[in-house]
Amino acid sequence: DNLAVWELAEMLVASETEIIKNLFFKGIAANITQTLDMETARLVAEDLGVEVEIPEKKSGAEKTEMLDNEDLENLQSRPPVVTIMGHVDHGKTSLLDSIRQTKVAEGEAGGITQHTGAYHVDVEHEGETKQVVFLDTPGHEAFTAMRARGAKVTDIAVLVVAADDGVQPQTQEAISHAKAAGVPIVVAINKIDKEGSNPDRVKQELTEHGLVPEEWGGETPMVGVSAITGENLDELLEMISLVAELEELSANPDRLARGTVIEANLDRARGPVATLLVQNGTLRLGDVIVAGPCFGKIRAMIDDRGQRVEAASPSFAVEILGLSEVPSAGDEFDVYADERQARAIAEERSEQMRTSRLQRAANSRRVTLSGVSEQAQEGELKELNLIIKADVQGSVEAIQSSLAQLPQDEVQIRVLFAAPGEVTETDVDLAAASGAVIIGFNTTLASNAKTAADQEGVDVREYDIIYKLLDEIQGAMEGLLDPEE
Ligand code: GDP
Repeated sequence: DNLAVWELAEMLVASETEIIKNLFFKGIAANITQTLDMETARLVAEDLGVEVEIPEKKSGAEKTEMLDNEDLENLQSRPPVVTIMGHVDHGKTSLLDSIRQTKVAEGEAGGITQHTGAYHVDVEHEGETKQVVFLDTPGHEAFTAMRARGAKVTDIAVLVVAADDGVQPQTQEAISHAKAAGVPIVVAINKIDKEGSNPDRVKQELTEHGLVPEEWGGETPMVGVSAITGENLDELLEMISLVAELEELSANPDRLARGTVIEANLDRARGPVATLLVQNGTLRLGDVIVAGPCFGKIRAMIDDRGQRVEAASPSFAVEILGLSEVPSAGDEFDVYADERQARAIAEERSEQMRTSRLQRAANSRRVTLSGVSEQAQEGELKELNLIIKADVQGSVEAIQSSLAQLPQDEVQIRVLFAAPGEVTETDVDLAAASGAVIIGFNTTLASNAKTAADQEGVDVREYDIIYKLLDEIQGAMEGLLDPEE
């Protein structure tokens, strides 16, 4: 029942600094991974103008398996889903690439160079062939973003630590995020090929952070590897399999599928494309699904080798076509036998999402107001609230990082929401509720969104060239400034 500072920040749509500052005035020195008890979290939230109800504890609140009672008779073991975490430059991407290259047979590799969000490999373990599924978006940001949305997709975290660099800030963060999620950790001490690498020193440092290697009597498997030479990758995979076995991961393949959206974007030619991780049941071509607030009938299904397939079983990820809109990473999906019921559920969710976003916007307004009034005393600060929608996640990130580089001494840019996909009515509602401008980049405006924007007087700006977007935003920011004295 503890909450890390960063988690609280996400929940309150507040900045981590704001929370750390508030804690400081309460006499608590905290960093972003520090955990707070519920009572402290509640006090901070109330200072920021947010009412808090602490729900009663649910048993087994966080579990990967999306299992019902009826599934219990039909359980079969399923492969582990693994996320690679660790400090920047310690070799997360290299390790993912190297495992993929060495383990995926040549002939199969046809489509696998394309990024789909997840891939699986075969592992020989105790004379049996087992599978391991890797989410190929490395880094705990993705992991954390998913968790913040209530999704739990990772069964095992592989913590990469460079043997020549040791435990670094993001290593510590990754450890606390994995621990907070209750996910077992396997450590890959990487770059053992490098001169000056010192795996024992790394183990020592990890011990100071609560991860004690098995060979020293602890519980954390640690394997020295090299992503470059491929040394010990098999050992690492075996270790992952072993941990998976202890976890007794299972699911019921004989039912309609459910799981989580791990990636989604709007493809110009193919329409909304989503990568779904099946967590229970079997997903089939032609299935009627609801993913977050989106509805659809699966028109095509492509596996991680780029092959068209007709079914996907638990722990496997597939790219699907046929959704009417782009869901968000972290959205849960469910298959329904009854198409009408599915439509109704999608509509209801969409309505619910709108209210919860409005609440969030209202909260964030209150949260910012206190911050703004404080800062106003120091020197009149104004904010420009933005909602960003773009064709793909890559564009969203590019726009966000370019915006962050604009001078913001006098006006601050605040991005309330940023995601790939078209501009929807929900975006317009959020903009109206929070006084934000909507930026659409290389994307379209849903027809009902256009009507809503006209009615609610929301400014939706569409661009297809990034410097033009930046130019105009900067101009707008300067237009908002007080005239120079
Ligand atoms: P990430 O930021 O954690 O994804 O790290 P990258 O995979 O991008 O690797 C960062 C740098 O370390 C790159 O220059 C890699 O070539 C290098 N690197 C990664 N793994 C190894 C390794 O096992 N041995 C050596 N010598 N270099 C490595």
